[in-house]
Amino acid sequence: MRHDLNQYLDEVAGRLERFPKGVVICWADDTQLGDANFEHWATCASPTRKRPVYVIAISRALLRAPKYVLRWLVLHECGHVRLPAWQKGGGGCHHYYFRQFERAHPDYIRANKWLEKAAQVA
Ligand SMILES: [Zn+2]
Repeated sequence: MRHDLNQYLDEVAGRLERFPKGVVICWADDTQLGDANFEHWATCASPTRKRPVYVIAISRALLRAPKYVLRWLVLHECGHVRLPAWQKGGGGCHHYYFRQFERAHPDYIRANKWLEKAAQVA
């Protein structure tokens, strides 16, 4: 994983209250993520007994994606790491507070447009 993304993860984590320690980012193969559709460019796996940390996995299809796209995905998945607390208000995976959180990112629109285009090509 590019060093830069880990640094960005630390930045985001620093801004979020009670963000868990030891979150890991890695590249995942596409079989792990299902179809390379709009919602599955990245996933966030919760801790298990064997692996007590959250793992953010980004599709290898994005190895050469622009930095702003990868950063936005990291932010999105960080939102999911914090989701258990935010979800109490209801609204499912991408509920109101979650959307507000990710839309605050300056590249939200640009990154989503890029991913939409990439999904059409895939
Ligand atoms: Zn999501």
